[in-house]
Amino acid sequence: MADGKTTYDVIIIGAGPAGLSAGIYCGRADLKTCIIDRMGPGGQVATTDWVENYPGFPEGISGLDLSAKMEEQARRFGAEITLAEIENLKEQDGLYALCCTEGDLRAPAVIIASGTRPRELGVPGEARFRGSGVSYCATCDGALYRDKVVVVIGGGDSAIGEAMFLTKFARKVYVIHRRDQLRATKVLQDRAFKNLKIEFVWSSVVTSIDGGDKVESVAVRNVKDGSVHAIFTDGVFLYVGLLPNTEFVRGFVDLDEWGYVLTDDSMKASRLGIYAAGDVRHKGLRQVVTATADGAMAAVSVDHYLSETGRAGA
Ligand code: NAP
Repeated sequence: MADGKTTYDVIIIGAGPAGLSAGIYCGRADLKTCIIDRMGPGGQVATTDWVENYPGFPEGISGLDLSAKMEEQARRFGAEITLAEIENLKEQDGLYALCCTEGDLRAPAVIIASGTRPRELGVPGEARFRGSGVSYCATCDGALYRDKVVVVIGGGDSAIGEAMFLTKFARKVYVIHRRDQLRATKVLQDRAFKNLKIEFVWSSVVTSIDGGDKVESVAVRNVKDGSVHAIFTDGVFLYVGLLPNTEFVRGFVDLDEWGYVLTDDSMKASRLGIYAAGDVRHKGLRQVVTATADGAMAAVSVDHYLSETGRAGA
C-alpha cells in the first residue's frame, strides 16, 4: 500500500464492476492505477446470488464469480487494488489528494465509482435487530434461514431476485410491498408469481420489527384500509432502494438532488480531472452492464485528459 504519499496517474474509488472495468482500461492504457475500496473487490454485485443479464454468460454467473473474474482481469493489466477507506478528498499542489485510512494517495485524475448502499427503512426494531434477524444481504445471510419463515420488504429487482434466492432455504417467504404492483423486471415477477413458497402481501408497509432476543414478527399496515396485523417471521430482508456513497465528495463535485454524481457523456464530473462511473452516477439504468460501460468510458476520458495535459507519469 501507499508509502506515506504515493502518486498514481489515476485513482479509482470503488472496486465494483465500474471501478474494476475502469481499472482494466486504465491498466491497458499503461496508466499507473490504484483502485481503492473499503470492503475489497466486488461491490454490490458480489452480494448478488445470480447474474443472468450480463452478456457472455448465457447460463448466468454468480455475482461473486463475476466480480472475481473482473478483479483478476484488472490485476492482470497492472491495476493495484487496495483495501482502504477514504477520509477526505481535496486538491493539493495541483493534484487530488486522498486521505485514506491506510495512508495518503495522490493523482491528477480520480474516477469516483463508489456505488451505492442499501437504504434503511427506518422503523422501530430495524437497528436493534440488525445482524440478528434484520439483513440487507440474502446472499450473505440466506443460509441461516433453512426451513424458516422470512419476510422481504420491497418490490424492485433486488427484493424479488433475492426473495427467489431465499426460497432455496426458507420454507416460506413473504414479500411485503407498499403498492399492488411490483417495480421489478417482468421476467423476475413471472418467476416469483409461480414460486409456491412466496406469498405477496400487497399495499402494505412494515411499521415495526418486533421480538425478544431475536426477531419474532413484523407489524404490517395495509395502506388502503389502515388495518394492522402481525406476520410471524424469523428474519427480515430489506430491499427498499439504494443510497449513493458520495458523502466524501459532497461540496466537491456537483450532485443531483438524491446525491448521485452529475457527469457528461464522457463521465466527466463538474471538476477538472474528476470522473464518475457506475451506480454512483446520475443515470437512467443501474445494471452491471451499464456500470462496466461507464468504467470503460471514464478510463478512456482520463487517458485523453492526461495525454492532452501531459500529466501522465506525474
Ligand atoms: P429500487 O428499484 O429503487 O426498488 C426499491 C423498492 O423498494 C421499490 O419497490 C419501492 O417501492 C420500495 N420502497 C422504497 N422505499 C420504501 C419504503 N419506505 N417502504 C416500503 N417500500 C419502499 O431498488 P433495487 O431493487 O435495490 O434496485 C436498484 C437498482 O438496481 C435498479 O435500477 C434495479 O433495476 C437494479 N438491479 C438490477 C438487478 C438485475 O438486473 N437483476 C438486480 C438488482 C438490482 P415502489 O415500487 O412503490 O417505489
